Amino acid sequence: MFRHSRKSSGASAPSGLRRTIVLAAACLFAFAATTAAQNVPTPKSVLGFQPTDDRTIADWKQITDYFAKLDAASDRVKVQEIGKTTLGRSQIVAFISSEENIRNLEQHRGFSESIANAVPGQKIDLGKGKAVVAISCSIHSTEIVASQMSMLMAHELASATDPESKQILDNVILLLIPSANPDGIDIVADWYRKTLGTKYEGSSPPELYHHYAGHDNNRDWFMMNLAETRNITKLFWQEWFPQIVWDVHQQGQTAARMTVPPFFDPPNPRIDPRILRELGLLGYKMAADLQATGQAGIVTNATYDTWWHGGFRSAPYYHNSIGILTEAASAELMSPVTITKQQMERQGPTRGFRSPLETATNAPDAWTGGEWSPKDIAWIELTAGRAVLEMAAKFRERYVETMYELASKNLRPDTNEPEAFVIYAGQPREEAVSRLLEILMWQGMEVRLLTEEIEGATDPAKRDDIHEIPGGSFIVMVNQAQKPNVLSLFEEQVYPERLNEKGEAEVPYDVAGWTLPLQMGVEYTPVYNIKDSDYLPGKTEVIHDINRARKALNLSPVSGPFAAMPNPLRNPARVGLYKGWSGSMDEGWTRLVLDNHSIKYKSLMDEDVRSGDLGSDVVILPSMGERSIVQGNSEQRYPKEYTGGIGDEGVENLKKFVNDGGRLVCFDSSCDLVIKAFGLPLKNTVEGLNRGQFYCPGSILALDVDTSDPLSRGLKQRTAAYFTRSSAWEIGEGSAVSSVARYAEDDLLLSGWILGEQHIKGKTAIASAKHGKGEIVLFAFRPQHRGQSFATFPFIFNALER
Ligand SMILES: [Zn+2]
Repeated sequence: MFRHSRKSSGASAPSGLRRTIVLAAACLFAFAATTAAQNVPTPKSVLGFQPTDDRTIADWKQITDYFAKLDAASDRVKVQEIGKTTLGRSQIVAFISSEENIRNLEQHRGFSESIANAVPGQKIDLGKGKAVVAISCSIHSTEIVASQMSMLMAHELASATDPESKQILDNVILLLIPSANPDGIDIVADWYRKTLGTKYEGSSPPELYHHYAGHDNNRDWFMMNLAETRNITKLFWQEWFPQIVWDVHQQGQTAARMTVPPFFDPPNPRIDPRILRELGLLGYKMAADLQATGQAGIVTNATYDTWWHGGFRSAPYYHNSIGILTEAASAELMSPVTITKQQMERQGPTRGFRSPLETATNAPDAWTGGEWSPKDIAWIELTAGRAVLEMAAKFRERYVETMYELASKNLRPDTNEPEAFVIYAGQPREEAVSRLLEILMWQGMEVRLLTEEIEGATDPAKRDDIHEIPGGSFIVMVNQAQKPNVLSLFEEQVYPERLNEKGEAEVPYDVAGWTLPLQMGVEYTPVYNIKDSDYLPGKTEVIHDINRARKALNLSPVSGPFAAMPNPLRNPARVGLYKGWSGSMDEGWTRLVLDNHSIKYKSLMDEDVRSGDLGSDVVILPSMGERSIVQGNSEQRYPKEYTGGIGDEGVENLKKFVNDGGRLVCFDSSCDLVIKAFGLPLKNTVEGLNRGQFYCPGSILALDVDTSDPLSRGLKQRTAAYFTRSSAWEIGEGSAVSSVARYAEDDLLLSGWILGEQHIKGKTAIASAKHGKGEIVLFAFRPQHRGQSFATFPFIFNALER
């Protein structure tokens, strides 16, 4: 029996009937309620409306109020604060399970931890373990429905009395996260309420829905830049170790009604094949259950892949956990839409999916258009959620064993792999080293300090070439329960060259390479064949506290985790950072880097630039297209106060600013505007090339740096930089533009994938140009990429000196 049964398909059922059925699904147990269940408040009784109804929205206070009332009324629900958000809101998880499991929650947590760590010699009765499942909603705040749905799901489980639900409650501990980005729920709720009933109803807010990262808040899951990532990472990989993690998203209105696992190629070779199989099984269970209710438009094996590390659902793979992503088609925030067949026809192909109107083995029941409302989305999510929970309950031991056996296997050394990675003692950039260690430790990775020297080989081809590795270095052993995470973060990624039938690069989902110490400019090495490795524990000390590591690095102690780093500027200029109303993630990440280094700046809005009131010595233009900067949002889509951009007068004011002695610093896309406006003799050598000629989708490349330039102070001649669909320049002869750094002539690719590297080899990556009394600094790439590329941060800092 499927929990959310309905007879007619989404496409053909009249909307009145569908509404009734969905409501019935949400309140399915009301008819059979026991006395205890009757005391469990419904979302409607608390909110005054049924969540997921058209044009309703619950903000974060309403959602947390509901969960608090549920906690108070039900012994099956326990709500816990897991930390504060970036803007200071309380972030919560609701534990939902049987009354008995909730009473013994700490015991189950401890058990889950011992399963995940598979400590040798510790006898574990795997049969006693509960399946731990985490479901997280609306990390992307405009994908709002799941946050509203979470209250229906919690109420259903808290009040259910049927045997199937009892089986779930007895066997599964659910960690329900109503939102992975509570600040964004309020940003979207405020905007939705403000625009409801106007012609802007259903539009996205004209600002980032995460203070720093916007949509990129789902690109942070190995980097720990954001408070929300840290809160959930601690909950998952320091405390609870869920065997199944489901991250609930929405995609475009004309895409599949829901895309579920398994995903498309390529899989990352560091993800255990067993995890990929279990992922597929859960996805097919979701798809089959949805099909049984008559839901059309469910798609597997398409669009998203399992290569990339750094997403909410991809980080679990490297912790022996099954990370599920689902993407339901969107409405317009909480307003329903009607999608025509013609609109569906215009939806272009994605990987593994030619058209939503075609039937295929991975999409056997095409959805051809119709009404689409938040309730439809909630229906699909509740049904898919039920599928996951049923599987976890029925195959509880299988999930517990899978995690345990993978962890046990990872603890055994494998001669094909390095034994350890060493982060050298005595290197410059100690703050970056400290931050790297803190990032690793926060994910539950064991980091040791070498208290004396050891001997090992650092070249995999010359394993007998043993030499000394100095004491005071840090060592990360590979044979940890989370071995795939150690390898994935330290190794160089080699993305397989995948071309389509036209011979052009097939676009991966997100980036191809991320090697963390490389991006951070930290000197490290793999180590093989460590001499007397049995005696290694006696020569090392496990680091439990970042201040112990900082002491070893001769850095002053910090008061708490992920504290701001010291201001690196000797003589700071007055900095203006262009912001505008287009919600640029690159602007947000720039702000994060400045805030994290205690660097003061002023955010420049369009009117500041239009009026010429810059109040700055240095102005930064983050990576934004010319249109976004100059024209801004359109009046068709946004109220007037959020439209217009800096305009032509703003461009003139930037020219005057430089002429009068200011320094204009531009990242990646914004360089086009500046090159044009100032008539700089820079030619982008990859402009106009198709993806068969040149392609580099997020990879780490080597730069050759002119270390004599003041912009390069503190940088090495060979420096790693992050390139993601960026540029490369040829400089016109005899011009006043100089090249500060070039893409390396040899060994250009350090991690990831590049096609057609000859188009950028030796070309300029950073340029500076004197203009009037001032100066322009141009980065062809993003030197602050997602707050990750510490290696190139010093270029930015040097540009902010007076
Ligand atoms: Zn999303």
